[in-house]
Amino acid sequence: MNRVLVPLELDASMPMLGAQAHCLDGQTMGTTWQVRWVAAGASPSEMVRVAVQDELDLVVAQMSTWLESADLERFNRAPAGTWHTVPEAMAEVLAAALWLAEISGGAFNPAAGALVNLWGFGPSPRYTDPGFAPPTEGAVQHALALNDWRALQWQAASRQLHQPGGVRLDFSAIAKGYAVDRVSRRLSGMGLPHSLVEVGGELRGQGLRLGGQPWWVDLESPPTAPGQAPLPTTRVALHGLCVATSGDYRRVYTHDGARWPHTIDPRNGRPLANGLASVSVLHTECLWADAWSTALTVLGREQGLALATAHGIAALFVQREPDGRLTETLTPAMKELAG
Ligand code: AMP
Ligand code: MG
Repeated sequence: MNRVLVPLELDASMPMLGAQAHCLDGQTMGTTWQVRWVAAGASPSEMVRVAVQDELDLVVAQMSTWLESADLERFNRAPAGTWHTVPEAMAEVLAAALWLAEISGGAFNPAAGALVNLWGFGPSPRYTDPGFAPPTEGAVQHALALNDWRALQWQAASRQLHQPGGVRLDFSAIAKGYAVDRVSRRLSGMGLPHSLVEVGGELRGQGLRLGGQPWWVDLESPPTAPGQAPLPTTRVALHGLCVATSGDYRRVYTHDGARWPHTIDPRNGRPLANGLASVSVLHTECLWADAWSTALTVLGREQGLALATAHGIAALFVQREPDGRLTETLTPAMKELAG
């Protein structure tokens, strides 16, 4: 059985006659990017590459935790009691992240950098380094004390952020989606409204592809246990729509038989252990699809379903049950897209 998700609003404008399909790709943020677009006449490929790179570089220069010179890293290293002017794009992402932190009760936490690093998911040390050992209880408690996003004083109007001391921001759960939005908008601004933009698996589709079809995307399902039939394929028409996926099945490492996803529960300072294999979120903005998919993954199926439903979020939860079987749950907004 297959499931087809189509947006509730359709825009009828078609690519021009004689239009051609184009594709570019590259690397950014420790992952890959790809841009497909449909345009008439000579390919403006070089112009597109420069524009895409420009947007991605801006996000990295401001929000990377892997670049010492990034504004975010400079804030992370700053002494206690100092105020910092946050650049515009970073301010936009910070405001969204703080809002989601508040309404998710800290399940989504842009100030969880100390914990992320402690568990080896930051730049260094990496959990893949030889001899990497899980942190001690004392180290977890120490990092937990530093992961309080409420301790951040943020003055939105003047874009001033206060470093209370030792707080480490990490925007990895939201910045890829934000970068996708920026690239997509930049293309539209260049007169290219028919595009599919992807950074590290987070996607945004605008307009239509060649032939007048929407940008169809299949959501990757986690593999089922032996004996269980595969999950239905979910096919989404990314027409003015974005999709992001978080969860434990794509990036996970095992230690003494336990599965550790890259996502931390900032409420207890440990990698998630709630059995969620993946959460996919559809949203008109990729920033929100990305951030919500991480938030709902941390909250787990029951709490996540309740919060997503209350906010009208279209989400698909794939839960690994105690017997190893996978089960799917759709929020009402997701069911609506499935028709
Ligand atoms: P994503 O793949 O979008 O779910 O983002 C995962 C990344 O976000 C991790 O590799 C961490 O850098 C960071 N992260 C981990 N846990 C959290 C959390 N609870 N809230 C916000 N960011 C997190
Ligand atoms: Mg995310």
